[in-house]
Amino acid sequence: MQLYSTNGISEKVGIEEAIFQGLPADNGLYMPEKIPVLPDNFWESSHELSFSEIALEIASAFFENEIPKDELKVLIKKAIDFDAPSNQIDKDLYCLELWHGPSMAFKDFGARFMAAVMSYFLKKNNREINILVATSGDTGGAVAQGFYNTPNINVFILYPKGKVSDIQEKQLTTLGKNVKALEVDGTFDDCQKLVKTAFLDAELRSNHHLASANSINIARLIPQSFYYAYAYSRLKEKGLPIVFSVPSGNFGNLSAGVIAYKMGMPVEHFVAATNVNKVVPEYLKSGDYTPIKPSISTISNAMDVGDPSNFPRLKALFGNKYEEVKDKIKGFAYTDEETKEGIAEVKEKFDYVVCPHTAIAYLGLKDYRSFSNQHKVSEVFLSTAHYAKFLPDVEKVLGDKLPIPERLEELTQKEKVATSMSTTYEDFKSYLIKEL
Ligand SMILES: *Cc1c(COP(=O)(O)O)cnc(C)c1O
Repeated sequence: MQLYSTNGISEKVGIEEAIFQGLPADNGLYMPEKIPVLPDNFWESSHELSFSEIALEIASAFFENEIPKDELKVLIKKAIDFDAPSNQIDKDLYCLELWHGPSMAFKDFGARFMAAVMSYFLKKNNREINILVATSGDTGGAVAQGFYNTPNINVFILYPKGKVSDIQEKQLTTLGKNVKALEVDGTFDDCQKLVKTAFLDAELRSNHHLASANSINIARLIPQSFYYAYAYSRLKEKGLPIVFSVPSGNFGNLSAGVIAYKMGMPVEHFVAATNVNKVVPEYLKSGDYTPIKPSISTISNAMDVGDPSNFPRLKALFGNKYEEVKDKIKGFAYTDEETKEGIAEVKEKFDYVVCPHTAIAYLGLKDYRSFSNQHKVSEVFLSTAHYAKFLPDVEKVLGDKLPIPERLEELTQKEKVATSMSTTYEDFKSYLIKEL
């Protein structure tokens, strides 16, 4: 498979190169030249297949000449060894729970699959790489867990001191082995700047293989299509068209849904549900794309994105035709007040607890319902994180102490190991040279 850059200047590359480069030199995004379409009988008989079997058919359509199918099968089984159930919470209403992985957020799908695929290529070529990531919280946990104990890969995670939640910090700093945490005495932007400077440092790069685990890496997008297809396979028997509501920030998750749709999966509509960083809902209304800079802080902070990095991909999936994007995707946006009301409503009506991001996806379905005029569909809202990752906010809304899953509880007992780092590039560089 060949991939092109959405900016149209950089050369086309194969998927292995796209994964290790992350970003094309022209600063666009890598996109498959053609989205492979799976045959109708695959979709029709998909209810007979397991999650891994569905995932394998999708992944092998992208990797067919690069990774033999039997090896891809092993990679998928190892990377995604957790469930993605569509939990029915009302008649025709389902919550697609994407937080059964190690960091309890949906980014586990992308990070673990990317780690497995990178490790496969590195072993094959007998190479090693060093991944540098700056995180403001959630991505770091998924990347740390995803790459933990992966042969041929070292990971350095930079996070701003005192600016990530306790649980997030523990997820970054308690693994050890090939995962090193750096606690930077500054902001997330300082962390990002250190990483960017390292990538531009010719001396460092000539001696060491550096790579990013950026959320726009194509290897993080493909595995996110798996769970849409899996949800479809389990819900199609109900005989209703399906609507997916996706709580969105950088729009990787929604783009992955559209990839599954373009591969032949029947979908009535997607709902793009955002917080007040509503660049895409506004675009869907007017056709104008106006970034919000700087982005606005909200309680659904993993979606505080004012210029979504995957937006060019989303458009490209529809051949850059606004009318087609608008026909398939309906956009709605919510304030923090509305988000809190959503958390309370889901608890009251269905006795089910959701995180702020998930509440926004739920609210998106309510507005979709009034738009679609009660036309009967199976409604699916994606739950992108377990509520316990956002415990203080959720407990405040519900006025009650909530149980914490064992996996997170255990973390709080573990000891944090992190190297303190200043915001000076020279300090970071000498640390890296010592460690690499
Ligand atoms: C990253 C994230 C999102 C946003 O996903 P995008 O792919 O960036 O749109 C939503 N919810 C949670 C919990 C996240 O961590």
